[in-house]
Amino acid sequence: MSSPKEGDIIAVWFSCGAASAVAAKLTLERYGNLCEVRVVNNPVMEEDEDNRRFLADVQDWLGVTIEDARNSKYPNASAEEVWDIRGGMSFPHGAPCTVSLKKEARQQWEAANISGSPMGPGCWHVMGFGAEEQDRARMFALTERSNTLPVLIEAGMTRQACYEYIVNAGLKPPRIYELKYPNANCVGCVKATSPTYWNHVRKVHPEVFASRAEQSRRLGSKLVRVNNERIYLDELDPAAKGRPLASLQMPECGLFCEEKPIARAT
Ligand code: SF4
Repeated sequence: MSSPKEGDIIAVWFSCGAASAVAAKLTLERYGNLCEVRVVNNPVMEEDEDNRRFLADVQDWLGVTIEDARNSKYPNASAEEVWDIRGGMSFPHGAPCTVSLKKEARQQWEAANISGSPMGPGCWHVMGFGAEEQDRARMFALTERSNTLPVLIEAGMTRQACYEYIVNAGLKPPRIYELKYPNANCVGCVKATSPTYWNHVRKVHPEVFASRAEQSRRLGSKLVRVNNERIYLDELDPAAKGRPLASLQMPECGLFCEEKPIARAT
């Protein structure tokens, strides 16, 4: 792969998580004098509200404005709205909220801000793939954007190292980590199938659990998997457990649509 040249555009996709915050920092340090580095966020209403506070802090830390990119069809950027309109919360090929609020929002931003092709010369993408996510980054480069700069992987920064980096920089991480969620995604992320995850949501955010249970029953989406069988959230035993929360493989919500659910239950 070639490397960025003077005047190229680098879009850093910031998802309000520690990894993409550090990815933005490293990109600005390395390419800020050479390229036009744009830091862009796709908001989702169902994320914890403290994510917005973190975004403002990161903006000050980076010294750049973080751009807001949302799908013009969904100006409220509400996943609940997407699920109602699309008639489901999780389909075999992926979650409709990722497609509508991340992928299509990103495509609209690219169309408005990048002359030429976002896959072509003069344009680069940076995602928050940590050093432990090399397979995912490789797959992403193969299937979505070959012009992706793996800045965290090259720096050997894992997601945990990114978390420590922002703490050492004096930033207060998003509250969602303190609440023991595996990432800064929406509370009650519909890509999760783990009973451990959903019972954690039930305990920490009972109102979100109740809302997801009601909507998923109404729309016929069985979000949780127990003993290899999909069941409705309102059927989940409050004592059911899968893998420990800390071991769930749940990367930050893909700005480039994840085709498969990412959290697996045992
Ligand atoms: S974090 Fe989960 S619920 Fe939120 S937009 Fe992404 S896939 Fe949907």
